[in-house]
Amino acid sequence: MQVIFISEGADLDALSTAFGITLINPEAKILLPDAVSSSFRLAVKRFENKLKGKMIKINDLKKINVLYLADTNNYKASLKKLSDFIDENTKVIIYDHHPVRSKLPKNVEKHIKKTGSASTIVVYQLKRNKIQLSSDDATILILGIYEDTGNFTYNTTTEKDLRAAAYLIEKGADLETVKNIIEERIDQQQISIIHQLVENLQYFFLKNKKIIFSFAYSDRYIPDISGFLHMIKPLQEADAFFVMINEKGKTSIIARSKRKEIDVGKIMSYLGGGGHFAAASATVKGLTVQEIKNYIESVLLSEAYKEKTISEFMSREIITVNKDTQIQEIKEELDKAPVVFVVDKKGKFLGIALSRVLKESLRHGIKDVKIENFIIDSIITFEPSTRLSEAEKTITTSSQEYFPVLENGKPVGVINRTYIIKILHGQVFDSEKDIFISRERIKPKFLNFERNLRKYLPDHIITHLEEIGKLSKKLGYSTYLVGGIVRDIVMSKKSLDIDLIVEGDAVKLSKEYAKLKKIPVHTFEEFMTAQLTLETGEKIDLATARKETYTHPGAYPKVEKATIKEDLYRRDFTINTLAIEITEGKFGILIDFFNGLKDIKDRMIRILHQLSFIEDPIRILRALRFAGRLGFKLGKPTEKLLKLAVDEDMLSVAPAGRINIELNYSLNEEKVIDILMLMNRYRVLHSLIPDFYMDEKREEILNRLRDTIISFEMFFGIKIDRVSNYLLALMYHLPFDISYKILQKYHFSKSVKFFEEYLDARDLFQKIPRKDSQLYKKIKFIKKDILVYICASSDIELSERIIRILKKEEEKDLLLSGKDLKEMGIPPSPVYKKILDDVFKKYLDGEIKTKKEAVEYVKKHYL
Ligand code: ATP
Ligand code: MG
Repeated sequence: MQVIFISEGADLDALSTAFGITLINPEAKILLPDAVSSSFRLAVKRFENKLKGKMIKINDLKKINVLYLADTNNYKASLKKLSDFIDENTKVIIYDHHPVRSKLPKNVEKHIKKTGSASTIVVYQLKRNKIQLSSDDATILILGIYEDTGNFTYNTTTEKDLRAAAYLIEKGADLETVKNIIEERIDQQQISIIHQLVENLQYFFLKNKKIIFSFAYSDRYIPDISGFLHMIKPLQEADAFFVMINEKGKTSIIARSKRKEIDVGKIMSYLGGGGHFAAASATVKGLTVQEIKNYIESVLLSEAYKEKTISEFMSREIITVNKDTQIQEIKEELDKAPVVFVVDKKGKFLGIALSRVLKESLRHGIKDVKIENFIIDSIITFEPSTRLSEAEKTITTSSQEYFPVLENGKPVGVINRTYIIKILHGQVFDSEKDIFISRERIKPKFLNFERNLRKYLPDHIITHLEEIGKLSKKLGYSTYLVGGIVRDIVMSKKSLDIDLIVEGDAVKLSKEYAKLKKIPVHTFEEFMTAQLTLETGEKIDLATARKETYTHPGAYPKVEKATIKEDLYRRDFTINTLAIEITEGKFGILIDFFNGLKDIKDRMIRILHQLSFIEDPIRILRALRFAGRLGFKLGKPTEKLLKLAVDEDMLSVAPAGRINIELNYSLNEEKVIDILMLMNRYRVLHSLIPDFYMDEKREEILNRLRDTIISFEMFFGIKIDRVSNYLLALMYHLPFDISYKILQKYHFSKSVKFFEEYLDARDLFQKIPRKDSQLYKKIKFIKKDILVYICASSDIELSERIIRILKKEEEKDLLLSGKDLKEMGIPPSPVYKKILDDVFKKYLDGEIKTKKEAVEYVKKHYL
């Protein structure tokens, strides 16, 4: 058969061209694609009797002898689509006005000209072949010319297009019909959307760039929206625009930009969508259009903020103290700020002192010591004119929390690390602007969990919880069991940490309870937390429900009382947001605000809001730790946002001390290998360790380490330094001076020594002696922790030999002891050591195997 192929979404030019071909070759049929433009559809309707018989569908296809490609613009893709129906004998004929990108085979017949429309090329041929045209034919043919030349206004229009059109008008083409079909037709629904978009235009100026937001609501899906946005003039004139169409709670965002510096592709990717810098889109569920707008604005602002200076954001409320001041003199001041600026007589900056440390010292009775003794110098400082982009670079290389701002050597302000990061990567200015995901709007679920609580917690703990609940009720508070323990109980696991959140005053509740029960209590008033120690030694942590807000740029986060829901909303993952109330009368009621139960059931790790990883990059590590430990998967958006945060290098701006804590936890987890493999998959290890790569060798060492650690610990009854071992396995590709820097940076000082000892030990194994007694001489002085690594990284044979020797050493006394020698009548003296060492050496080399043989050997050689 003979087929005319036009592409998906074909327009009038394709239709006119294809129609023209059917006039040249009446046997050829037009293959109708699944989707066509709305004007194409209109034309087919208007000329139904002319076109119907010329069209076929994909199901009608048989083997194609002659294939026409009409205005398809892509030779290879077209052939690929039809590959089932063509072979090397199929004749291919192309009508196109697009430049052809791929090289065409010689036997392809080409009608390719640089005209404004492809229809022009066909019309020329019809004229040449003197084919008769009716006025309807002429009208159909002229449609493509009008459309593709933009009514002869596009600068791709050529003289040929006009000549072809002139010829068609001569043949009776009806321009009234052309006008009706070509003019944009939009339906009632689309008009309503355009109307709303025009009504809701909102302007946003950023560095002289005009950015427009607009939104509309619709109760059903509206096709082709992006196709008619060009009709809204202000949008066309803007430097960039974001149009949001909310359809039953789901919002489609269409974004366009004319400026390279406004990369809408990147912004849409933050919202889980994609595209390139000039055109992009995303679909977001559960956010209001206002929330989306706020979010996009904050991202746009953060780009702009990079150029701003520290002076605009720093806090000027600083406490400056002369170095000779005694710390008790500033006791009152210490609650006001986390750091104190120490200056000399002339007001010149000497360094900072941490309020926390000073308070601790006061508590220990150190009072009349001068503050100069507490100075931390050699710290990074900024000037008011430092740009935020520069500041960001600087803070990534240090773990400092607070950065003094100095002008001419004198302190004028302070800014903290988290704040700089939040300005640049997330919004800070208004906590109401927080992005709440749909979970926020879910109705909380309540479940009676009293039985499970009693099942998984020991009786005496239950009794305490009940009594704390009773006291809570008396004080008018509500108290809840929260965090990992609730997650674990839901998953039918035993758990240790008992964390309580109090809607009320946790410190007061704890003090009264401690008094009542005559048990010790530790309170931390400034954090609104307390810790009780039970008679049995277990601890119960209590905290006042709270939220952190920023009162103004540059200020420290202000801790405020909040509801349990707000407190839970700050948490890392939905599975950690469950609470079980213990207040009297409601004891054992589980509350699920954010669908945590479902996520536990579905085995999913999900963050609570879009900025979670940027707000606290440590959550990247926590997400993978929980995923590895519990065998859970990351939710789709969570995974996407985690990757984004890693790509943005958020881990390098996270405080090193917290990375240390988190890695310590991870490397001590039972599922450490799973966690490390996830950290590899998500390129977290690459972000923490220079030039990191995972290959079979490293994977094998890691796996063998896990097994060797377990067997060493079981056999020798010792605790192996897991952290250092795994760190070494992750960093063995680095020269020591680099791994040293990494260990220092993340505060793994204990591991530095381990690395050094390992390097020394490794040198001993350049040559491996054949006899076990010789090998023993080498390993005798090496710590077991390090031998673990040596075993895991050497070949199996050496590894088994070392373990065999160590086991023999462990059982050395069973073979022969000083007591045995005494019984044999040898008087105690330093010769004992010589004899025992000699016997052990023979035992290692297999010359002595049993106690009996040992005794005989001694009798023979030493009696
Ligand atoms: P584990 O079983 O490892 O103790 P956990 O969930 O109890 O798990 P913790 O580190 O003890 O974890 O923290 C207690 C609770 O504090 C968590 O359940 C979580 O809700 C919250 N949390 C801890 N770290 C963060 C963080 N970086 N961001 C938000 N919430 C956190
Ligand atoms: Mg815990």
